[in-house]
Amino acid sequence: MAGRIVDPGRDGEEPDLDNTLRPKTMDEMLGQVKVKDQLSIAVVAANQRGEALDHVLLYGPPGLGKTTLAHVIANELGVQLHATSGPVLERPVDLVGILTALGERDVLFIDEIHRVNRVVEEYLYSAMEDYKIDIMIDQGPQAQSVNLPLQPYTLIGATTRQGLLTTPMRDRFGITGSLDYYTVEELGQIVERDARLLAFEVEPEGALEIARRSRGTARLAKRWLRRVRDYAQVKANGRVDAEVASRALELLKVDELGLDEIDIKLLTAVIDKFEGGPVGVNNLAAVVGEEEETIIEVYEPFLIKEGFLKRTPKGRQAMARAYAHLGRPQPSADNHSPEGEQLDLI
Ligand code: ADP
Repeated sequence: MAGRIVDPGRDGEEPDLDNTLRPKTMDEMLGQVKVKDQLSIAVVAANQRGEALDHVLLYGPPGLGKTTLAHVIANELGVQLHATSGPVLERPVDLVGILTALGERDVLFIDEIHRVNRVVEEYLYSAMEDYKIDIMIDQGPQAQSVNLPLQPYTLIGATTRQGLLTTPMRDRFGITGSLDYYTVEELGQIVERDARLLAFEVEPEGALEIARRSRGTARLAKRWLRRVRDYAQVKANGRVDAEVASRALELLKVDELGLDEIDIKLLTAVIDKFEGGPVGVNNLAAVVGEEEETIIEVYEPFLIKEGFLKRTPKGRQAMARAYAHLGRPQPSADNHSPEGEQLDLI
């Protein structure tokens, strides 16, 4: 089911500001050391050979820097980036238009690549493997297949759901990199960097407080910094310390662990309405009024990583940390079913 994904922080983002603040090089991009190291070597090697970089698949939850990294790669390859996204590529002709516009070694960035439909995906196969695309001209008896050669290029696909990619699609990427949630220290540095670029001062403790409340997500850290700056300007003479940051974020209903209203609603529903679970994500979606996809892609991964929730074959189940955080009594051990095996994230 293709639901609408509401990505915390993406709506309401100020695009101009984001362009100024978006890191342009691997060095400016903080954290994500593993994936950056892997890509830096591949980029330097491709540059030395004057070849197109292998196709790259980036995966990880929203807001961690997949789009940013794609721009950084294009920048370090010294080529143009052409951006599109899975849901936009509805018909093969949409893809043909984009592919034929690519210059030599250019980067084609497809966000949400798991949402490319099967028909378009078939066309992508030869476009990725052999740098060519076969298109049918005309219909019926006059129909003929025309072979269009493409410039050597690099496809960078980004996905929040690696498990939804077909195997033939996944196999066509030479490089796969996963982006992880940032540590509080890394987010603190991201906040300080943005504050510097925006020419205002944040005390180190203020930056860390924002970082702690940002769910390991760069996009949220940057967003909260802007809201804290507004608050500090109006209520605290522009001073951003830990106290001001926490007051500003409490006002936005972001708690000390970074959980927002929806997270709390989700956990409360599992515990109070479904006796701690397991509960199917469709039921949860109905209760909290969010799309299933949004819960799976945006909210759940962090709640699982932080030990509030677990995914079991029978549905989502609340963990001890969720009871403690909401101040609910823990159920006795025998209330909890043994089928509570943790499933891998998809
Ligand atoms: P994704 O594509 O994974 O959803 P984006 O690349 O759009 O995430 O990044 C979200 C925001 O976070 C952008 O404003 C981007 O500039 C910023 N950002 C991401 N990663 C970093 C980083 N490592 N250092 C600084 N800012 C970052």
